[in-house]
Amino acid sequence: MTGDRMSRSARLRWSTASELLRLVYAEPGITRTAACERLALASGAAAELIERLRAARLLAEHRAGRGGPGRPTTVLGAHPRGPLAAVMDLRAAGWRVLLGDLAGTVTEAAAGTYGDREPVDLLPEVAGAVGAAARREHGRVGAVVAAVAGAVSGTRLLQFSTRGWHEADLGVLAGGTGVPLLVGNDATLGGIAEARGGAARGARAALHLLVAVGVGGALLVDGRPVTGARGAGGEYGHLPLGDPDLACPCGARGCWDLMVDGRALARHRGDPVPGDPFAYGREVLEAVRSGRVSDRDRRAVERTARALGAGIAGLVNLHDPDAVTLAGLAPGLRAAAPGAFADAYRGGLMALHRADPPPVADAVHGSDGPVRGALALGFDEITGPAALARWSARRTP
Ligand SMILES: [Zn+2]
Repeated sequence: MTGDRMSRSARLRWSTASELLRLVYAEPGITRTAACERLALASGAAAELIERLRAARLLAEHRAGRGGPGRPTTVLGAHPRGPLAAVMDLRAAGWRVLLGDLAGTVTEAAAGTYGDREPVDLLPEVAGAVGAAARREHGRVGAVVAAVAGAVSGTRLLQFSTRGWHEADLGVLAGGTGVPLLVGNDATLGGIAEARGGAARGARAALHLLVAVGVGGALLVDGRPVTGARGAGGEYGHLPLGDPDLACPCGARGCWDLMVDGRALARHRGDPVPGDPFAYGREVLEAVRSGRVSDRDRRAVERTARALGAGIAGLVNLHDPDAVTLAGLAPGLRAAAPGAFADAYRGGLMALHRADPPPVADAVHGSDGPVRGALALGFDEITGPAALARWSARRTP
């Protein structure tokens, strides 16, 4: 049975199950009573549904902690043999394979470094690790999600700047598991994590920005990223908000990327382009925080924070979000020069936004954001009505 061919009655049969499982994923530790209220489920229908999901190993119930008044209730959580999402975390420094369950519990299954290898040599090794992890779990892995610190489109890697990789097909990463492979950029996935269960929770339109080497981001509407026709949108760092005399490695001139990261700090301090701009930026911000810096260094940080604040104002004028979240070096940059950031942010806003500017909050998931967002995408896939019907058909006694 495929999603397209699923009958209407089967879809209806699994659509409430899908809503319930998505609620359990979004709100770990939710009680049966609260979940039923939220979905307006009558107790008889809820009992039937939860029993069906328990029998299909999709859900487990645990007694809720004592102490509160009222009738005892249970907490809904992951079945010990329930579905898992596998995440391949391809970071600048190395790769990891992680498995996550419906309750958001994550375990690391494998990890490695890139060495001098090119994608054509490395990707099969990572795919092998994913395949091995999936086999150990005996068919529990229902989706494979790659979180990539680079530009992606569909399942293609377009650019992994820190490794100098271009154009690689990530399709191999499903590792022969036969389950859907999803690919997301780390900034976009971090934005999903913040919009669904982080600093932008509840925002209808949320703007997320990650400063690492350059700046990436995503606009999320109702928790879903707006990524364009091929999934390559959100390249905010390559808007011409920078110095038109500076050439960007992307091929364009004047990119915002060059104004807000470790390369900008190095230029303003009179240093050569750092080999690892992220580590360089972190060191400079750490030094400013501890007060061990010269006036020149402080000015370098202020200029960079101003470029960040002004650019964010432009993006607020463009997208009209109700929340903005910052990750990577951005929270530290703002904290190191709060006045410069705030002046540039306010100064760049159109008057219509100035009375009530969207709050700019630090991301709460930090460096875990991309993995959290990848798991959320994986469970979107796993808890779709058609996927649930397939899973259940194989397991219900
Ligand atoms: Zn560029």
